Amino acid sequence: MPARVAINGYGTIGKRVADAVAAQDDMTLVGVSKMSPNFEARRALAKGYPLYATSKEVVPKFEKSKIVVQGTLEDLLKEADLVVDCTPEKSGFKPLYEKAGVKAIWQGGEEHALTNLSFNAAANYADCLGAPYVRVPSCNTTGLIRTLYPLDAHLGVDRVLAVMVRRATDPGDSKKGPINAIEPELEMPSHHGPDVQSVLPTLNIHTIAVKVPTTLMHLHTVAVDLKRVADAAQIIELWKRFPRIAFVAGGDGVKSTAQIMEMARDLSRNRSDLYEIAVWRDGVHVVDGRRLYYFQAVHQESDVVPENVDAIRAMLRLETDGRRSMEKTDRALGIGTAN
Ligand code: NAD
Repeated sequence: MPARVAINGYGTIGKRVADAVAAQDDMTLVGVSKMSPNFEARRALAKGYPLYATSKEVVPKFEKSKIVVQGTLEDLLKEADLVVDCTPEKSGFKPLYEKAGVKAIWQGGEEHALTNLSFNAAANYADCLGAPYVRVPSCNTTGLIRTLYPLDAHLGVDRVLAVMVRRATDPGDSKKGPINAIEPELEMPSHHGPDVQSVLPTLNIHTIAVKVPTTLMHLHTVAVDLKRVADAAQIIELWKRFPRIAFVAGGDGVKSTAQIMEMARDLSRNRSDLYEIAVWRDGVHVVDGRRLYYFQAVHQESDVVPENVDAIRAMLRLETDGRRSMEKTDRALGIGTAN
């Protein structure tokens, strides 16, 4: 019988994870729960997803909008083996999940301390086998781990400096900013470095972040001191052995995140999502054999989606081999077609 998965919070991440779960043959989406009876609730119903209200208090809002819910989140949890919490940070549902006896995954807005287990499929799938509670770190953290883990595992990393140019908000949002300013994150390191260490605890990484007025993607400039000598071609070959890294080239006309997302639209995937981390092939440079520089772009709305699917498989032991889980997820989502 397929594993029964519920989604709590049906926004940017929740609706994508819902579609990704529905696309797998070893899990079934038993329902999604929402706070607001808006267009996204109507779209969920149109897709045939069972819809639940987050709590009794919001049921009248759904009734007023003539949107039929099957019950509340508490009812939904009775149908599920695992819930993927895609609500904003600190929404505080853990006691409800504990009471219902369901496993749970949280997203990167939450602290590592909530689960004491942060997940990346390539780096620590085996550590999460059977775990009751797991956190999938943020889009930026996931992006950094995708390219740094292979380097650390195969060449050794002495230290990393990553400067992150962060998008202001997501394309579907019209409230947040900045819309005409550049905002440095004054915390040093930015929270991303310690967050990477929640998955790769021994990686010596420092991160700096600034927020800019764009909604498409984040861009990372990364400098890495390697333990072993390698040239740019060898590093690209190493990354090619890992899933979810796509290569783009300035020489091919991909000069910016605008062309990367145009390429993503040309791929005709669900919502034009680019689940892979895009690395500029002609932006990879090695100086003196050991100092590596590269640029990568992160589609913040979608890179964590396949990680959520693999985390479900690990936690419910649907597959004990992380590689095989990643291959299965990627086949279902069409990942790997970008190169
Ligand atoms: P979102 O605002 O797009 O969606 C959140 C959903 O939760 C909405 O359906 C909203 O109605 C609902 N919600 C809001 N408050 C709630 C509450 N108190 N109780 C229950 N439901 C509530 O948010 P998002 O961008 O999808 O982010 C969700 C999580 O994913 C956060 O932890 C965030 O940090 C993380 N994340 C976001 C991105 C991104 O780029 N958007 C990337 C990676 C991880």
